[in-house]
Amino acid sequence: MSRLSEGGLREAICRLGGSLFSRGLTFGSSGNISVRLEDGWLMTPTNVSLGRLDPARLAKLDAAGRLVSGDPPTKESFLHRAMYEERREALAVVHLHSTHSVAVSALADIDADDVLPPITAYYVMRVGRLPLVPYHAPGDLNLADAVRKLAGKHHAVLLANHGPVVAGASLDAAANAIEELEETAKLFLLLRGSRVRPLTPEQVAALKPS
Ligand SMILES: [Zn+2]
Repeated sequence: MSRLSEGGLREAICRLGGSLFSRGLTFGSSGNISVRLEDGWLMTPTNVSLGRLDPARLAKLDAAGRLVSGDPPTKESFLHRAMYEERREALAVVHLHSTHSVAVSALADIDADDVLPPITAYYVMRVGRLPLVPYHAPGDLNLADAVRKLAGKHHAVLLANHGPVVAGASLDAAANAIEELEETAKLFLLLRGSRVRPLTPEQVAALKPS
């Protein structure tokens, strides 16, 4: 994606929010989207449905995280900041409470170092290894530290009993990765109880991130 103007990015955030909402990937006022600007960030506001975003009312934060214009940012803005601090190349972050990912995040017997098996090549290329971040109550800022610890090595993490946070080199890349993650969580749940033949370590090694 070529670098869009701030106006273009505002439109793109609202379009993505509407698309995620209309497909049931977010609901109520859950989920949030941000993009990095040269002098700060644009972030979806607190207590607003991603299906009804207004480009002019997105929160604009300066490089120190102070609100410059628009409505106050999501209360989960610290999750986004933790990702950006650890991933200098990240230009966008998407966080959802999408149903199948949350369901998987609450399973008792998952591998916290690598939550989902490599069911498809696209999952491996867009998400890769997905670590589980231990549960923290809403508003507990220790969650930011827990995300920061993993974000240097992983552009996608799954918050236990909560949902995924995914960074990307563009808004499209972050959105494609979090959607791939949600679909793979759905496949994983569909396949539970069946004998599964995931990709082999050699097949995984032959794939390149996209
Ligand atoms: Zn959340």
